[in-house]
Formats: sequence, structure tokens, C-alpha cells
Amino acid sequence: MPPLLPAISSAAKRPSSLSALAGSARTLATRPMRKMAVFGAGITGVTTARALKARGFDVTVFDQHRYAAMETSFANGGQLSASNAEVWNSWGTVLKGIKWMFQRDAPLLMNPLPDRHDFLHKYTWMGEFMAQIPNYKSNTIDTVKLAIAARELLIEHANTYNFDFNREDRGILHFYSDPKEYAHAEKVTELYKEAGLEREKVSSSEIGTIEPALAGGDYLGGYFTPSDFTGDIHRYKSPEGLSHTHTDTQQCPPHRPYYVCALSPHSLQCHSL
Ligand SMILES: Cc1cc2nc3c(=O)[nH]c(=O)nc-3n(C[C@H](O)[C@H](O)[C@H](O)COP(=O)(O)OP(=O)(O)OC[C@H]3O[C@@H](n4cnc5c(N)ncnc54)[C@H](O)[C@@H]3O)c2cc1C
Repeated sequence: MPPLLPAISSAAKRPSSLSALAGSARTLATRPMRKMAVFGAGITGVTTARALKARGFDVTVFDQHRYAAMETSFANGGQLSASNAEVWNSWGTVLKGIKWMFQRDAPLLMNPLPDRHDFLHKYTWMGEFMAQIPNYKSNTIDTVKLAIAARELLIEHANTYNFDFNREDRGILHFYSDPKEYAHAEKVTELYKEAGLEREKVSSSEIGTIEPALAGGDYLGGYFTPSDFTGDIHRYKSPEGLSHTHTDTQQCPPHRPYYVCALSPHSLQCHSL
């Protein structure tokens, strides 16, 4: 492919070459891009890179870390679940968030102080979060549909690239001891149904049958989603699909801040910039 940028910059220096510039711009607009850069080698970047690769693009993945999935994806619980797709945009979450700020063992902690890199970002994000509270129902239905499609896509990628990510098809069980949360789960299950996800109501004794470790517990009941499954995200993004193994990536020179990782069908080749 002839370089386009030099043609454009040299034409720009000479007004008489405006027609050449227009020609180059036309070529730029009509020539399909074959090379793609993906920033971030978390689950989103890796999956995007695979999808682009499958469409015939040359894909390069950039990440600031030496290995793939070393940030949010690192801590992942491994659930490939549509039954957790209820959106969090509700006043209940806002109140919980405030309460948790004063709780030592809070399951999630929001630091109310401004971000040192971007003073306003956290507060504009909170504003956007609250602005979506009226759309709780439609957003939940859309997110569940997206989660169902995502589960299918992840399986398709694993089958296409023929790798094993320790997938366990045992469903996901939610169980409740708090009457308010149990009643809420029933409403959420109705929304899930609208989105096409089947979630079964199960009794306390059925909870013990599905998961013997929970037998005899004092539960009001639960909801079981048989189509959900679990897997190991580190195996998902490792073998054959994108990055090969840590052994391959260890060959990357230990320079920061960037590696360029080129995706080929069977391996990941890294170079420092
Ligand atoms: C404790 C916990 C448990 C979770 N459990 C589940 C679960 O069971 N199931 C589920 O589906 N989801 C779960 N999630 C959510 C899920 O992990 C995230 O939604 C997902 O990992 C986000 O992936 P990502 O690729 O978008 O982001 P990340 O994994 O954060 O990837 C972003 C990448 O971009 C790179 N990057 C950022 N900035 C730059 C830059 N300037 N230059 C170069 N590279 C850059 C980072 O190094 C990183 O590798 C969980 C999250 C947490 C925190």
C-alpha cells in the first residue's frame, strides 16, 4: 500500500497541487482500512481484537502492562452471567453507596474525593449515573439482551479458536434471607423474562439440592439461571485466542510504557515502542 500521508503533506505545501490533495483525500476515504489498533488488553480489548481479526483486519493490541488483563479483568469473578445484568442505576444503590462509605467491610467503596488526574470526571460520571435512574427498566432489559448475546459470542470464540477456559455449565444460583431483597428479585426476574432470560424460582430445599454446601441453610428461597456459566478469564484471554501464554509475552523486552502486541492466528508477538 503506497504511503498516503507523505502525499497529502507534500501536496498541502504546494497550492497548485490541490487537485493531488483532493485525490489523496478521496483515496483515503474510499480505501478500506485493513489495519486496526486496539487499546487495552482486558476482556473488552481482547474480544474486540478477535472479532476484528475474524473480519480480516490486521490487529495490533496496545497495553500499558506487560501481560494482558492485569487491571479490572484481573479481579474478575469468572461469571458469564446474564442473571447479574440488572443495572445499578437506582436510588437504592445511591443510598447503599453512601452507607458503605462509612462501613469498614463495605463490599464496594466509592471515594468521594476528586480524581487527581481529572477533577470533574468522577462527579460528571455520578451525574450521568443518576440521570439514568428513570431508565432503570429499559436499560436492564437491554443489558440482559446484550449479556445473552455476549455469552453466545464468548462460546463462539472459544469454539472457533479451539481453546479451553475451564468452562463450567452449572448455572448461577441467587439465594435470599432478606424479605425485601427476595421480593425485589421477583420483580427483576420479570424484567429478565421480558429480555428472554429464563430464571427459575427455587425453594429453600431446592437450593440445597442445586448446591449441597448450602443445604439446611435458613433461606426464604432463591432464583436459579441454568443457562449461566463460569470460566477462568485468564485462560480465556490466554491460549490461542489472543495472547498465547505468559511464556510468549515474557519474551517482550521489559520497557515501559507500551508494548505493541501483534495478533497472529497462533501467537502474540510483542515489541517495545
Ligand atoms: C471484583 C470484580 C469482580 C468481577 N466479576 C465479574 C464477573 O464475575 N463477571 C463479569 O462479567 N464481570 C465481572 N466484573 C466486571 C469485569 O471484570 C469488567 O467489566 C471487565 O473486566 C472490564 O474489562 P475491560 O477490558 O473493559 O477493562 P480492563 O480489564 O480494565 O482492561 C483495560 C485495559 O486497558 C489498559 N489501559 C488502560 N489505559 C491505557 C492506556 N492509556 N494505554 C494502554 N493501555 C491502557 C489497562 O492496562 C487494561 O489492561 C468484575 C469486576 C470486579 C472489579
